[in-house]
Amino acid sequence: MAAVRLDKVRKVYPNGHVALKEASFEIADGELLVLVGPSGCGKTTLLRMIAGLESITGGTMTIGDRVVNDVAPKDRDIAMVFQNYALYPHMTVRENLGFGLRLRGVDRAEIDRRVAAASDMLGLNERLEHRPAALSGGQRQRVALGRALVRDPSVFLLDEPLSNLDAKLRLSTRVEIARIHRRLGATMVYVTHDQIEAMTLGQRIVVLNGGVVQQLDTPMNLYNTPANLFVAGFLGSPAMNLFRGTLRRADGLRLEMKDGAIALGADAPGLAAYLDKPVVVGIRPEDLLTVDDHAGLAERLRAHVEVVEPVGNEVFLNMRRGDAEWVARVPPHSTIQPDSEVALGFRPERLHFFDPENTARID
Ligand code: ATP
Repeated sequence: MAAVRLDKVRKVYPNGHVALKEASFEIADGELLVLVGPSGCGKTTLLRMIAGLESITGGTMTIGDRVVNDVAPKDRDIAMVFQNYALYPHMTVRENLGFGLRLRGVDRAEIDRRVAAASDMLGLNERLEHRPAALSGGQRQRVALGRALVRDPSVFLLDEPLSNLDAKLRLSTRVEIARIHRRLGATMVYVTHDQIEAMTLGQRIVVLNGGVVQQLDTPMNLYNTPANLFVAGFLGSPAMNLFRGTLRRADGLRLEMKDGAIALGADAPGLAAYLDKPVVVGIRPEDLLTVDDHAGLAERLRAHVEVVEPVGNEVFLNMRRGDAEWVARVPPHSTIQPDSEVALGFRPERLHFFDPENTARID
């Protein structure tokens, strides 16, 4: 296994498009790192640069202790799993699994041993003599994973490997990937635009937007202390509520908005510079609490409930006050009806503050 290090890595496509501005970070030996971001943010480009399928415009890429900027893909000791499987249709599962090894001149007995081990790990033993057309989507994806496994590479690169699977299979295959990672202790880089996949699989996550690394941290640190408004809005569903207004001090800090004020009950050293200036206050839907359900919770704002969405284990309340829209997640037994007024509170320590200009978190 090997660590992967990026030092000021840049990518500019020949048409002048800057796909990656300047990325510097390290994927530790044995780590499962997720690259996540919206469509077009540059995650596939970055993965392809690690693979050697895309040239590096600037900076240095290191795998293990070797600079790989000019090393051909086949010499990088990596294996890539694509979302479209890329299986050979005329070969059986066994042949698909062993093909890469045969090309590399690995001897027959060793190929058989590695194919058997991968097939055991992925539950493909019953399917070894089938062709891809006779497999389900989930099984094809497992064969694609298996082809990477038999190579026993230093680094696994996975590009949205679950995106062609239905919701249920996505879940089980996701767990399978996590299990394989635990068993192998392999270095893995996993690209997805799905925040749930990113949160559940990643030991650490790189959030990319517009070719710029927004934040790199553990899933819970990203969720609890997003570095900027983009990360705050990207992770979490429904998304974090954002209140825009002016920060005032009168009986403690208040946020003055177009349609009234909120007593924040919170303070942060960094907020001193924002007094009487615009600021964005964020609060996650699960932190916006109904006063009726929480004894002793101070009412801090009222809103009009427009739409009530029960999702089984909880209920989403979609609310509005003036132009502002908010969502709260409340327990499933909630009896709040659409078109009613609701009194809300929050624990001040759950608030997030952001600079509306440069969008950075204020602590
Ligand atoms: P998706 O989730 O849609 O696959 P992504 O985050 O993986 O998106 P990339 O495929 O890395 O995004 O593309 C990043 C940006 O670079 C996009 O704006 C894309 O249009 C552009 N791009 C990709 N390949 C090329 C190319 N060969 N030439 C010019 N621009 C390109």
